[in-house]
Amino acid sequence: MTSCKDCVAHLLGACRGDYCEPERLSLAELAQRSAEAGGHALMAFHKESGRPMWHAVCSRCGLEVSYTLDPDPDTPALFGPLLDTRCESSS
Ligand SMILES: [Zn+2]
Ligand SMILES: [Zn+2]
Repeated sequence: MTSCKDCVAHLLGACRGDYCEPERLSLAELAQRSAEAGGHALMAFHKESGRPMWHAVCSRCGLEVSYTLDPDPDTPALFGPLLDTRCESSS
């Protein structure tokens, strides 16, 4: 089992994925629900290399939603233009 490189806890050697996995999944679920509420069809999240950040786009309008496990103090963990916009192909 390889150690986790996706979160802050891994820097302390404390995480092998079990620390950040629940948090990551809850953010992904929140993103999915927000996207569906806006009529979007979210595709799979892909991870940004070197950072604990994930991105996914809507297959219909191409807008992006992102989440991070290591947000800046003034930045929400979940963000992106998709959250503020209804999908253009929905009515
Ligand atoms: Zn981790
Ligand atoms: Zn959309």
